[in-house]
Amino acid sequence: MNVYPNIFSNNPLDRVSYLRSKPEWIKETIVKEDTVFVAFWRGKPFVSNVPGLISGNSLPDQHSPALFPLNFFEEKIINVSMVIFLGLLNGKAYFSIDLSRVSDPENEAGLKDLGTFEDLMALSSQAIDPGELAILGQAKAIFEWHNSHKFCSRCGSESSLAEAGYKRICNECNSEHFPRTDPVVIMLATYNDRAFLGRQKRFPPGMYSALAGFVEHGESIEEAVARELNEEAGISTKDVYYHSSQPWAFPFSLMIGCIAEANSENFKLDEIEIDEGRWFSRAELKDAIEGDKNSNFFVPPSMAIAHHLIKNFVYNK
Ligand SMILES: [Zn+2]
Repeated sequence: MNVYPNIFSNNPLDRVSYLRSKPEWIKETIVKEDTVFVAFWRGKPFVSNVPGLISGNSLPDQHSPALFPLNFFEEKIINVSMVIFLGLLNGKAYFSIDLSRVSDPENEAGLKDLGTFEDLMALSSQAIDPGELAILGQAKAIFEWHNSHKFCSRCGSESSLAEAGYKRICNECNSEHFPRTDPVVIMLATYNDRAFLGRQKRFPPGMYSALAGFVEHGESIEEAVARELNEEAGISTKDVYYHSSQPWAFPFSLMIGCIAEANSENFKLDEIEIDEGRWFSRAELKDAIEGDKNSNFFVPPSMAIAHHLIKNFVYNK
């Protein structure tokens, strides 16, 4: 299997989509002795320092998702919680349970002293197995989708979760709704030996990154890259190459990383979207990627796909 550079990718689970649509299989599997549940509460996974089933505890201060059997949770807790199927790993089934409707899960669901609910973004920069992190991203994104799509977009009635989390069916008009992923293009514009980075007002002081934006309807990835570069920085694009992508569970996007060859170094910033921006030389970007203290700017850390786009430009010439 390939190992991709972006975190939240490299999910080790087999999603067995042909099985999750079979209610009998789900019913049998959910109560099997070795089936495990990852717990979430209001977007945060429950993690502990006990050895993870995928990773063991190979790193100091390693975090792993705490894994529970279904019967760990009382029936009254399960009845108000959302349960989704994640996939199989070495024959073991992984599910996730969203305890968001329980106001105090540590005490009410018996989790006290077993670990903590952690912010997924914060967790991603700590010691955690990349495969386990990808599983948590998968669960978070699908819970986010369900939590923001409780009502039918055709008739407005309430809908119900089906196929172990991979569908919603309207209780009134029977319309089927499927989990969506929002595509976002993120691109490094290059011209000869230089690449363009910009900064938004919300960035920490000194940080510059690749520009990004949502893909619109009726638009290819290449066209979205060209449009965003033109709108945000007045850069005219000659050619677009795909680099890599990153599942991004904030709330349920797919970041599509591209390199865009520009026609020239001409640019004109959209000052509402971009606070500052300029062309950087490969040598300047190398210093920033390597964390040189003399660099007068910095780039996003390795958890961000922008980091890998810049790194690719620095080292692959
Ligand atoms: Zn409906």
